[in-house]
Amino acid sequence: MSKPSKQSLLDKITAACKRRGFIFPSSEIYGGINGFWDFGPAGAQLKRNVRDLWWDTLVGNGHTGPDNEKFDIVGLDAAIIMNNKVWEASGHTTSFSDPMVDCRKCKQRFRADMLPETKCTEGGEHDYTDVRDFNLMFKTHVGPVQDDDSTAYLRPETAQAIFVQFQNVLTVSRTKVPFGIAQMGKAFRNEINPRNYIFRSREFEQMELEFFVKPGTEDSWLHWWLNKRMEWYVALGIKPDNLSIEWHPQDKLAHYAKACADIMYAFPFGVQELEGIASRTDFDLKAHAEHSGKISPYFDTETNQKYYPYVVEPSAGLDRTILAILCDAYCEESLTNAKGQTETRTVFRFHPKVAPVTVAVFPLLRNRPELIEKAEQVFADLRPHFRVQWDDRGNIGKRYRYQDELGTPYCVTIDFDTIGAGETPDNANTVTVRDRDTMEQVRIPVPEVTSYLKQCMNI
Ligand code: ATP
Repeated sequence: MSKPSKQSLLDKITAACKRRGFIFPSSEIYGGINGFWDFGPAGAQLKRNVRDLWWDTLVGNGHTGPDNEKFDIVGLDAAIIMNNKVWEASGHTTSFSDPMVDCRKCKQRFRADMLPETKCTEGGEHDYTDVRDFNLMFKTHVGPVQDDDSTAYLRPETAQAIFVQFQNVLTVSRTKVPFGIAQMGKAFRNEINPRNYIFRSREFEQMELEFFVKPGTEDSWLHWWLNKRMEWYVALGIKPDNLSIEWHPQDKLAHYAKACADIMYAFPFGVQELEGIASRTDFDLKAHAEHSGKISPYFDTETNQKYYPYVVEPSAGLDRTILAILCDAYCEESLTNAKGQTETRTVFRFHPKVAPVTVAVFPLLRNRPELIEKAEQVFADLRPHFRVQWDDRGNIGKRYRYQDELGTPYCVTIDFDTIGAGETPDNANTVTVRDRDTMEQVRIPVPEVTSYLKQCMNI
C-alpha cells in the first residue's frame, strides 16, 4: 500500500472523486463557477453519513461532562437569511473581512495574508495595490425593491442564529446551564481566493455547537470539548497521526475570544484547520441582549445568581471533514494480475460508518434468472441492515475495482455454487464475501451473511 507523491495526491483524489461521483464542479457544463461544488450520488451519501453522525453524537439528553456533570444538547434549524440587525450586533457588517490586494498588472485579487508564490501572469513580480478590507458576506435583496433597505446577507456562519434564538430555545427546552444548542447547515463566504479543492469554498456547510456554561468553568469545558471533538474524528476512521491541535496565540485571538484551539488535519497541501474550538465568553449573548433588548440574563436556580452564560464553541466544517476523510482513505496499490502484469488498484479505505455503500451484491451473471432471483433475495435480506448496492455489470474483477474506488468495505457474490448448480455441492446456499482491504474471499452461508458482515464492520 502506498500514497502517491504529495503534489499529485490532491489531483488524483479530485479525479477519483469525479470518476466515482463524489464531487463535481458546480455548473460544469457552463464552465463552472469558482468556489462552488456539487456532491454527486456517492458524495451526497458520504456527506449525509457524516452529518448524521455529528448530529446523533451531540444532540440528546443525558450526556456526561467533566466531573460527571449531566447535560443536554438540543438542535436548531434556523433560516439562512436573517434580519440585518443580527449582523450589526455580531460585528459582521463592520469587521467580517479579509485584507486584500489587487495586482495592477494582471488584475487578479489576492488575500494579503496569502500572497501567491508564483510570478505575475503578465510577467515579472506582481504589482500590488495597498491593502484594503474586503467584507466576505454575500449580499442579496429581500422583496421586489432593490435598495439599501432591502439588502440582506447570506449567513457567513450558522452560530449567530443560535444566540438570537437563545431565549426561545431555553424557554421551550426546560434545560439548565450547562447545555448546548447545535445547528448545521449552509454558510456562505465570498472568499477572495477559493482554493485547495473543497477546502476553501464560497458555499459550504458548518456543524456548530454553542455550549453555554457558568462563567468561570469555561476553561475546563474548552479542554473537555477539544478532547471529545478529537475522539469524534478518530471515530470517523481518520488516522490520529494526521490530526493535531494548534492553540491560537493570545495576541492573535478574535476580539470576542478568550482562548481558541484548532483541530488540524495534515492535508496534501499542508496542515490546515478542520475545526475551531473557541471560548467566546458572553460576548455574543450580551451583544444581542444590548441590541435587541430581548435577551434576559440566565437565572441560576442552584446559586440564585443571574448571569449571561459563557460560551464554548466547537465549530466544524462539513466539507473540510469530507475532504479529510477522502484524503485519509485514498490509497493506491500495485498488484500483479492473473496475466502477470502489474496494475494499480485505487481504494478509498473508508470506515464502514461513513462509506457511501457498505455492501455490494453481485449476481455472477446478469442473464441467468436463477442467479438473479437468488441475488435479489440476498439483496432484500441485507437492505434493512446496510447501505447496499446492486451491481451486475461486467466481470467480477471489474466490479471489485469499481467498488474499491467507491470505498465499499464488502462485496457479496452469488454464483452457481450458491444455487446448488456449481462444482462444489458443499457450497450450496453460501455466498462469497470479499473484503475490500485484504481482498480475501470467504464463503458464508446465506442465513449468516448479515450477522457475519455486522461483526466484520463492528456495527
Ligand atoms: P479559515 O481560517 O480557514 O478561513 P476560519 O477560522 O475563518 O477558517 P471559522 O470561522 O472558525 O473558520 O469557521 C468554522 C469552520 O468552518 C472552519 O473550521 C472550517 O471547517 C469551516 N469553514 C470556514 N470557512 C470555510 C470555507 N471557506 N470553505 C469551507 N469550510 C470553511
